[in-house]
Amino acid sequence: MSPDISVDLVVIGLGPGGEHLATEAAKAGLSVVGVDERLVGGECPYYGCVPSKMAIRAANTLAEARRVGTLAGAAEVAPDWGTVFTRIRDEATDDWDDRVAVERLEKAGVRFVRGHGRLAGPGVVEVAGTRYAAARGVVLNTGTTPTAPPVDGLSDSPYWTNRDALATAQLPASMVVVGGGAIGVELAQAFARFGTRVTLVEAAPRILAAEEPEAADVVAGALTADGIQLLAGASLDRVRHAEGQFTLAVTDAVGTGVELRADRVLVAAGRRPNITEVGLDTVGLDPGAPAVDTDERMRAGERLWAIGDITGKGAFTHMSMYQAGVALRDIVGREGHAAEYHAVPRVTYTDPEVGSVGMTEEQAREAGLDVAVGCAALSASTRGWIHGPGGDGLIKLVEDRGAGHLVGATSVGPMGGEVLAMLATAVHARVPTATLEAMPLAYPTFTRAVETALADLAD
Ligand SMILES: Cc1cc2nc3c(=O)[nH]c(=O)nc-3n(C[C@H](O)[C@H](O)[C@H](O)COP(=O)(O)OP(=O)(O)OC[C@H]3O[C@@H](n4cnc5c(N)ncnc54)[C@H](O)[C@@H]3O)c2cc1C
Repeated sequence: MSPDISVDLVVIGLGPGGEHLATEAAKAGLSVVGVDERLVGGECPYYGCVPSKMAIRAANTLAEARRVGTLAGAAEVAPDWGTVFTRIRDEATDDWDDRVAVERLEKAGVRFVRGHGRLAGPGVVEVAGTRYAAARGVVLNTGTTPTAPPVDGLSDSPYWTNRDALATAQLPASMVVVGGGAIGVELAQAFARFGTRVTLVEAAPRILAAEEPEAADVVAGALTADGIQLLAGASLDRVRHAEGQFTLAVTDAVGTGVELRADRVLVAAGRRPNITEVGLDTVGLDPGAPAVDTDERMRAGERLWAIGDITGKGAFTHMSMYQAGVALRDIVGREGHAAEYHAVPRVTYTDPEVGSVGMTEEQAREAGLDVAVGCAALSASTRGWIHGPGGDGLIKLVEDRGAGHLVGATSVGPMGGEVLAMLATAVHARVPTATLEAMPLAYPTFTRAVETALADLAD
């Protein structure tokens, strides 16, 4: 083992938050080492948010073109996944090469080390036999890895995860998606719109189990309209792969055995935090814990901060970036807000989009709040009616009646994630419901459905 190299800060894992924090800490004058064993920037730019949203943007364009018949005449649609693949390869990921990100990091003054980093005690990190002693400390931003459920035959088969699906040059003719969370439903819809015959298998009684049931119903209707076969409440019992074909044995919601055949299986049924191999035990933390516990300044232990998916506060890029800002301020001694989680926004980028913030109705009731609920269908709003095909959606508000403000909200519809911004502000700032009711909203926006939902809340 070589002697210790003294630095101010080591960042292990350069996901969106770690990359940002390392860059800003170096710009603030600290000597910073950034370590990543894969690609600088993490899952989001190469295999997550960015390529998936490129695919979705393209798929939604196809869907809009198919709506021309109802609204504007006629259009012929000939899907070509090659266009999407080229855009993902050339514009989004630089052919899955992080040279540009590494150069940007180094230009900011960060010393970049490619390799697997692990803690070797408080403020000490080892990478490939070199030890770094970090006077200020260490930031962990190691993210997650896709996992597969323990189904007979699955692990021996060449199943896809998001990393394969978003790097493929060719779409399969048929695909089974295992998992009906945000990633599963987004990719199922995008692939189906490009012509893949998709079946989605979800173990929970409904898709989007973390969202309001009303939101899940709207998305289930949209997926079915896209030709996707939905098997919710189903168990995947066995997977076999032979001669380029998958055969899956599934028991459906009423206990009937179903055999599915497909060219590909995409598993989007969970991710595990990369914390078992980072030396947490050397700083007195449990590597087997489901997440790394942090305080409101993202401190996880002695001279240790943790940010991003591994903190268990929401596996979103915006959460990784938000926590990076909080940790950075603590590290460089700047004033600023601490981390709060009562208004974490999240968006599922299906068509229609599902934007939500804070608690669902069920969570608010479980928390013992005096709950009032208000709902409005977008189709009953002027804009929803004008929009016509593709305009399905709703607004659902969850109010803490005792406190007199919203604690949760859901916005489903075209641009549901954008409409969410107003509701996220209301939940975050605990805006009194009476203040929201007194607010004029532009006509005829989708946002005006919030006014109808507020009126429903008051009834
Ligand atoms: C298909 C898909 C779509 C998504 N879409 C969205 C979206 O639309 N919006 C959104 O907000 N979020 C989305 N996400 C989630 C988002 O990608 C993550 O929340 C985001 O990347 C933040 O993760 P992170 O900062 O924890 O680290 P990650 O991005 O997971 O990066 C962690 C980094 O740490 C490195 N690493 C791990 N262990 C070590 C080690 N020991 N030593 C050195 N390096 C290590 C890894 O190589 C990786 O580069 C999506 C995810 C997927 C899979």
